[in-house]
Amino acid sequence: MTTTPEPPVSSLPVREGETFESLNPRNGDVVGVHPVHSAEEVDEAVERARLAGVWWREIGFEGRKEYLLQWRSVITRRLAQLVHLVHLETGKPHGDAQLEVGLAIDHVHWAAKNARKVLGPQRVSSGVLAMNQASSVRYNPLGVVGVIGPWNYPVFTPLGSITYALAAGNTVVFKPSEYTPGVGQWLVDTFTEVVGGRPVLQLVTGFGATGAALCDAGVDKVAFTGSTATGKRVMAACAQHLTPVVIEAGGKDAVIVDEDADLSAAAEGALWSAMSNAGQTCIGAERVYVHRAVFEPFMDELLRQARELRAEADPDSPLGPITMPTQLPIIQRHIDDAIERGGRVVLGGSDAVGERFVQPTIITHVPEDSSAVREETFGPTLVVNPVDDMDEAVQLTNATPYGLAGSVFGKRRAQSIAERVRSGMTSINAVAMFAAVPSLPFGGVGESGFGRIHGADGLREFTYAKAITRQRFKAPLELTTFARDEKTDKTVALLLNLLYGGKKTIR
Ligand code: NDP
Repeated sequence: MTTTPEPPVSSLPVREGETFESLNPRNGDVVGVHPVHSAEEVDEAVERARLAGVWWREIGFEGRKEYLLQWRSVITRRLAQLVHLVHLETGKPHGDAQLEVGLAIDHVHWAAKNARKVLGPQRVSSGVLAMNQASSVRYNPLGVVGVIGPWNYPVFTPLGSITYALAAGNTVVFKPSEYTPGVGQWLVDTFTEVVGGRPVLQLVTGFGATGAALCDAGVDKVAFTGSTATGKRVMAACAQHLTPVVIEAGGKDAVIVDEDADLSAAAEGALWSAMSNAGQTCIGAERVYVHRAVFEPFMDELLRQARELRAEADPDSPLGPITMPTQLPIIQRHIDDAIERGGRVVLGGSDAVGERFVQPTIITHVPEDSSAVREETFGPTLVVNPVDDMDEAVQLTNATPYGLAGSVFGKRRAQSIAERVRSGMTSINAVAMFAAVPSLPFGGVGESGFGRIHGADGLREFTYAKAITRQRFKAPLELTTFARDEKTDKTVALLLNLLYGGKKTIR
């Protein structure tokens, strides 16, 4: 059977002169009004970014470091302002918003401080055949990077690309989610203030079509965070121009609890990972696999801690609303499917899904083929299933097309279990701590995407490697000349044989 491919999304129409409102998901209040940028306006922003890139590259690692560190300080000094805006546009409590911004600040600091060391010229060994060469590699900026951000962590996530791209010497055009344009505006405004109004980091706002226009605007790389489905569309649009992409997509992360785990810590970690930010976290736990020997005491502990947790309209209730209303029916479907297939509700349940808020829901013994186990739920729900041993835990954890992150709680076997989980990131005896370590790469495998933000890999992601050899002296064996004679060829063959021809016993 042949299928008709979807038209490239970059052909979506973008009308000029429109605006849209960002709304407070707690109560529907208007937080701000923003333009819907047209494809032409996106093109113009990319053009301005290209021109600004000349200056941004010229000031070098040290100059960029100074500006980025100034920006870090501005964000830190105005923390309360940004935190409140994140709270208004996403609905998350202030404390969670502050944690998010705090982690992002640490990344700005790290990227600024480490860009030269990671990307600057480095000498490498030339080997025997090219021993007369001095060899070096450096990592050059790509040019203009388009960043398409999500709404769930509207500071931490896009800054994971923006900061690293800027530190590497690129300029950036940023398209935030339609749900969090005000946060995007705040970030761009403060950076622009620091660099004296130069368009090094610019904002374009609108809906999916504006993001699609950015993919089509001749940028040198696109960094996308969002759903796997949209990630595929972004990749298809970028393929038209051979524009490279880094995709940070969804996940179905699991927490594995071994029989020798600290059950109280495991329950606390799993609960926070699953429920904080109302479960709208790409690296949040959606499944828990618990060794059968400790299943009952683990559940007792989990329920003891979860029972008081409520999602409420109070601005600082630990669980906020579901930011994106279209997510509510998806969460409902996953809960209902799990129950219909025999899952046992121990907290919340089918009526947990309200108009704006979803109450914490925990279901055990959920069949592995249910949507609550297979698909990203992105709500405050948790599936907890017992397993016979840790082999089964690893096998079930890995039996999903996603591979973003996860946690292991245990003692003796925790390290080896973590190593066997097919995912980009794992925390042992804690949750999500890899995100708080700026020197570690962040990203997934399979349907969770590819490429890395954060750390040295995150800096290199926004560069191309440039290799240079410099001839230091005339070689005893001239290889790259028509004057190369039979004697030289024989000497090369002899040399190769001496170097690599020895017999190796394979044990
Ligand atoms: P999307 O993947 O649709 O959106 C992410 C970003 O891509 C937004 O800025 C969006 O803009 C933009 N976008 C949408 N369509 C296009 C396009 N054709 N070309 C370029 N950019 C585009 O995610 P949603 O916000 O709709 O959330 C859907 C689901 O994705 C969630 O329920 C969750 O499961 C998952 N998700 C995962 C995230 C993660 O961290 N991995 C983050 C967010 C969502 P706009 O918002 O204006 O449409």
